[in-house]
Amino acid sequence: MNFSDSEIVAAILEKEGYGSTKDIRSADIIFINTCSIRDHAEQRIRKRLEYLQSLKRKNPHLVVGMLGCMAERLKTQLLEEEQVLDLIAGPDSYRDLPGLMAEVESGRKAANTLLSMDETYADISPVRYDSNGISAFISIMRGCENYCAYCVVPYVRGQERSRDADSITKEAEELFHKGFREVTLLGQNVNSYQWIRDGKKTTFAGLLEQVALVNPLLRVRFATSHPKDLSDELLGTMARYNNICKSIHLPVQSGSTRILGHMNRGYTRDQYLERIAAIRSILPGCAISSDFIAGFCDETEEDHKETLSLMEQAGFDYTFMFRYSERPDTLAAERYQDNVPSELKDRRLREIIDLQQRLSYQSNKKDVGKTVEVLIEGFSKRSDAFYSGRNSQNKVVVFPVTGNHPGEYVPVKINRFTSATLIGEAG
Ligand code: SAM
Ligand code: SF4
Repeated sequence: MNFSDSEIVAAILEKEGYGSTKDIRSADIIFINTCSIRDHAEQRIRKRLEYLQSLKRKNPHLVVGMLGCMAERLKTQLLEEEQVLDLIAGPDSYRDLPGLMAEVESGRKAANTLLSMDETYADISPVRYDSNGISAFISIMRGCENYCAYCVVPYVRGQERSRDADSITKEAEELFHKGFREVTLLGQNVNSYQWIRDGKKTTFAGLLEQVALVNPLLRVRFATSHPKDLSDELLGTMARYNNICKSIHLPVQSGSTRILGHMNRGYTRDQYLERIAAIRSILPGCAISSDFIAGFCDETEEDHKETLSLMEQAGFDYTFMFRYSERPDTLAAERYQDNVPSELKDRRLREIIDLQQRLSYQSNKKDVGKTVEVLIEGFSKRSDAFYSGRNSQNKVVVFPVTGNHPGEYVPVKINRFTSATLIGEAG
């Protein structure tokens, strides 16, 4: 989401005549786009600011700004704590950046952290400045109103709002004409997307279909789905279009109904597993991935075991796994005690990671011998003798270079695999 937001910021600045550079030491202005989701993310940003301070000592005219969620969360307090900062702007105030920079030029520090009820940057065509030219993100909504007890997002990204469906389809068409072959539709909970115009409502399933119809050669992905809102209608739409990728990211967070209740997730363990069963029956072969939080408030050994057993039952292809980090002002910080000892959080996280490694191994092993359709994204990171791309299930596939080019689809027979990559040959 931040990556996508930075492309919007680049578009706003480009219109003002600014250009980008890959050499940080030659920059006159540096904006750092920030995340507040865990304390660790914020600590890394603080460290980065120390480095920017060293650049500023060499170039006193350098302007340094902080954008995004950490700017929104800490507001002007940041300008007092971090002397290096000249400017801060929250996620809904990027249109104001030229004005904020003018303020800085006139010698003042500048800040705008107002959240909006309707800003979606729908009319701004993002500058894809760090792109492989094949795959791109399209932001389809902003904010979140689910208020999961551990999560800071509703406080730093504001109310949920959906972007004009036609502007999304137009952006997908433009990307296709520029040679892009894959778009990922982004939102914190894409399943609650809705856009109403002239009394006609577009749901997420409708939007997905509209984007899939742009061209059969344009792959469509999306993230993130909230389990409480994943409908059979959406699964049916995915089944009907070959170019809608067969991969669903469905964060569960915990396998214990009791903990899910504390987390305010809006579903039970059984309801989650029922959604997994629906995916398996409507979309056989679809990859399923998830997110987990280890050591949430009051989590017992029994709750943790339920998480491990849910992982086995669901058979996730890959997951993102985190240890719980208390965030100020969230429901959990206000209501519960962060009472799982640190060593226990680490041990539970380790067990979740170890189990997932085994599940990912099994998932990759099943692919050996299969021929999968790969969209070539470019050379592999390790060698120009290999192409790298992804299959519909979002797995990275590497194979010896053929006469094909990035942006083309090739069938690849999988021969072997590493933990994160399938390796094969085109044929
Ligand atoms: N909106 C998405 C959802 O509901 O799944 C993703 C939101 S968040 C940006 C990505 C992941 O970060 C979450 O799914 C959760 O696993 C993790 N996360 C959020 N808050 C956290 C916290 N306080 N401590 C640890 N992990 C957290
Ligand atoms: Fe955070 Fe929950 Fe919203 Fe995801 S759905 S962004 S976890 S509040």
